[in-house]
Amino acid sequence: CGIMGYIGTQESQNIIMNGLKKLEYRGYDSVGVAVNNGDSIQTNKAEGRFENLQNLLNESPLQGTVGIGHTRWATHGRPSDENSHPHTDTKKDFAIVHNGIIENYLEVKKELEDQGVVFQSETDSEVVAHLLSSLYDGDVVSTIKKAVQRLEGAYALGIVTEHDPNKLFAIRHDSPLIVGKGECENLISSDIPAVLEHTRDVYILEDGELAILTEDEVKLLDIQTDEPVNREIFRVDWD
Ligand code: GLU
Repeated sequence: CGIMGYIGTQESQNIIMNGLKKLEYRGYDSVGVAVNNGDSIQTNKAEGRFENLQNLLNESPLQGTVGIGHTRWATHGRPSDENSHPHTDTKKDFAIVHNGIIENYLEVKKELEDQGVVFQSETDSEVVAHLLSSLYDGDVVSTIKKAVQRLEGAYALGIVTEHDPNKLFAIRHDSPLIVGKGECENLISSDIPAVLEHTRDVYILEDGELAILTEDEVKLLDIQTDEPVNREIFRVDWD
């Protein structure tokens, strides 16, 4: 029910956890984080309160300056460690966090299972990770475009990938998502309060817009036309 993502010069794990706490008001039953350290994507997630995951992370921190996190409010699949986000594909080339409901997930899941994909969770969301992996064509943006063309329903997605380790991707349809534009760091979140410790400059994404973040740049693309979106920065003037 809450998404937070970070790319920048600092370690991402704690920034993501702090941001997720600011989204607590949205409600949640599980928490998870995935961090890309350039060589591999490491994930940790747990059902229950923040403390459950925080204890695991204190024992073995996830290192890397690019990452995504999620607070889940289960819609498909009971609250459990396995059903918590982030979800990855089998090779762990992609990790995704998702808010919303993929209405046609059973159909997509069946197709992927017919290709031999083994699912780890009961969620609708996991199809997105496997779909990205199965559609990967050497270009992450074009792969995301092909994947979302297959999705019906509501989604805000945060994506990290081994194929492009110095980028963070985000796209939405009928589910809120914002981008925070900082100094040598950029963020994604479901809501503004989660990024305010870092920046007051925000882009409010609209449906069908893909945000491509590096540590010093944010690009917005219209996923249908591939044209850049020229969105004005929204400067937050409240506390
Ligand atoms: N439908 C997804 C799930 O049940 C996402 C729920 C959410 O938005 O937290 O895992």
